[in-house]
Amino acid sequence: MDEKDLDYLGKIILLGSAAVGKSNMMNRFLKGIFEETYLSTIGINCLDKKFNFDGKKVKIKYFDTAGQERYDSLSSTALRKADGAIFVYSITSRESFNKINFWITELTNKGNNSKVLMLIGNKSDLEEEREVSFQEGETKANEIGCPFMETSAKTGENIAISFEKASRILFLKTSEDDNNSSIIPGSFDLNNKNKKGKKGCCGDNKK
Ligand code: GDP
Ligand code: MG
Repeated sequence: MDEKDLDYLGKIILLGSAAVGKSNMMNRFLKGIFEETYLSTIGINCLDKKFNFDGKKVKIKYFDTAGQERYDSLSSTALRKADGAIFVYSITSRESFNKINFWITELTNKGNNSKVLMLIGNKSDLEEEREVSFQEGETKANEIGCPFMETSAKTGENIAISFEKASRILFLKTSEDDNNSSIIPGSFDLNNKNKKGKKGCCGDNKK
C-alpha cells in the first residue's frame, strides 16, 4: 500500500533509560526476534506497522533513539517528530522507574504537542530481580494519565497488545483533536493528508 492511500500516519517514540529493552520490544513486536546480548542502538531504530482501526487505513512508525539515552538527553528533532510517546522502564531497575518523570518533562519541553500513550514496565520475566512493584507502575500511570502494562520482550508477553493499544490511542486522540479543532464535520482525513510522509521510515514529515 502506498502511503498516499493511508487515512492516518503516526509516529510513536519509545522513551526510557538505556537498556530497559526499548529496541528489543520493537524487534519482538515487528520482527518477532529477541537479542540476549545488549547492542546499544546505533542510528535511529525505526520500524512500522499497518493497522485497520475502525475501517481506517493506519500506519504507525515506531522509533527509538541512537543510544542518546545514555547521556539522558535526546535530540530535540527526535522528540519533535513524535506524535505520541510510550514510556518504558525495567521492572528490575528502580533507577529507570525514577527516571520516568524526567522523560515526561523531556517530551513536554521538546515535543511538538506529543501525546502520552502508555507506561510500560518491561522485563516482566525477571520476577526474581524485580525492584518495582506492579502497583507502583499502575500508580505512576494514573498520575500521568495513561494506561499501564508490564511486558517481556524476551517471552513476548503483552508486547503486541501494548503496542496495538498505544497505537489505537494515538489514532483515537488525533482523530478527537482533529474533530474538535475543525468546523468541517468529518474532516479527519483531510487534516491528515498533511501528515503523510514522503521519505523512508524515519524521514522528516513536514507538519
Ligand atoms: P534499550 O537500550 O532500551 O534499547 O534496551 P535493549 O532492547 O537493547 O535491551 C537491553 C538488554 O536487556 C539486552 O541485553 C536485552 O537482551 C535485555 N532485555 C530487553 N528486554 C528484555 C526482557 O523483556 N527480558 C529480559 N530478561 N531481558 C530483556
Ligand atoms: Mg536501544
